[in-house]
Amino acid sequence: MAGKRNTQRAYKAAKKHPKVTAAIAVILVIIIAAVIIFFILRPDIFKSLFFKDPAGNGAEAGAVAEIAEGELSIHFLELGNKYTGDCTLIKCGDTEVLIDAGSRKGSAETIKKYVDNYCTDGVLEYVIATHAHQDHIAGFVGNKDGDTRTGILYQYKVETLIQFSGITDKLKEKPTEIYTDYLSAVDYAKGNGTAVYTAKECWYETKDGAQKQYFLDEAGNVSLNILYQRYYDEITTDENDFSVCTLLTQKAGENTYNYLFTGDLEKEGESSLVDKNDLPEVDLFKGGHHGSYTASTDKLLNKIKPKNIAVCCCCGTTEYTSNVENTFPAQAFIDRASKYTQYIYCTTLIKDYKAGEFTSMNGNIVFYTKGGRLKLYCSNNSTVLKDTEWFKANRKWNGV
Ligand SMILES: [Zn+2]
Repeated sequence: MAGKRNTQRAYKAAKKHPKVTAAIAVILVIIIAAVIIFFILRPDIFKSLFFKDPAGNGAEAGAVAEIAEGELSIHFLELGNKYTGDCTLIKCGDTEVLIDAGSRKGSAETIKKYVDNYCTDGVLEYVIATHAHQDHIAGFVGNKDGDTRTGILYQYKVETLIQFSGITDKLKEKPTEIYTDYLSAVDYAKGNGTAVYTAKECWYETKDGAQKQYFLDEAGNVSLNILYQRYYDEITTDENDFSVCTLLTQKAGENTYNYLFTGDLEKEGESSLVDKNDLPEVDLFKGGHHGSYTASTDKLLNKIKPKNIAVCCCCGTTEYTSNVENTFPAQAFIDRASKYTQYIYCTTLIKDYKAGEFTSMNGNIVFYTKGGRLKLYCSNNSTVLKDTEWFKANRKWNGV
């Protein structure tokens, strides 16, 4: 009743003071219009008010204790030294996939210590060696410790090894020490029962057991798919171009998640990857070539529209260049990637390259699903790249 009386009173007052009422109405319209325009200009703020995940495309905050219980987890490892390198562990039930084992021989121990938290039977069902650079294969070799070798291919029973289809003529003519050691490690694994295929053999399924699709679980919900790129068939002058590319696809209840790994594939290879495969939009992309300006091209990113990007690198490292713009992750990479997501994470941070000082950026980066929901746990913190101190001092954000 009181409400009705108030309405009546307001109606009478409005009749008595038409000019005031009109002024209030105009002000209200202006305020509402301003709010609408503000939210149109800043949809991120609008979303942050009404949705749990501000950009609508990141992952929920996770917890380390939950990872092993998840249906699937993808781990980007820190490698225990100042050198940039790749090592990605994928775990689905009792099935493990290890993509690359960088960055130096000594990383083998760091990798094993981490992997053993999740692989309890000493068996890696699948190992992928993307290309013949030491920052991707050195940990497969490891060091000599008396009679034992610490390398991943010596320490675990590897069921299937999928490796690059080719090497450059330069490497053929003058094999590096690490490549020669890698070949010995592969021979050791073969002697231990490992089936060894190239990505090309998997793609064309020309060898018994070589497949372009492997299911990681019995229900067939999670598949590891070897993608095609032109340098499985062609010769090139850069080992990076030979990178084995894989797409992990997971059906989780109503959701399908896609995760893309392209090693150090560069521009031409990425172009053929887009042309030759029916790539989906992905929930997670391992930033191409450690966040180099030479990879993660517009053509690829526009196709996969990554929702999250994990970069395996030491931020600001002068290992390959002293040009600040181009140190990993490069400004050009950030400019391209940031059109699609603000959820970019990096493993490590260089403090002083010459002195060998480094620290964790996000640390070990783990994406996993639990109850069909995508979650993120980082061993150091989950600060997105653009909000880190390093970024503010060294890079510009022009993105979403
Ligand atoms: Zn690399």
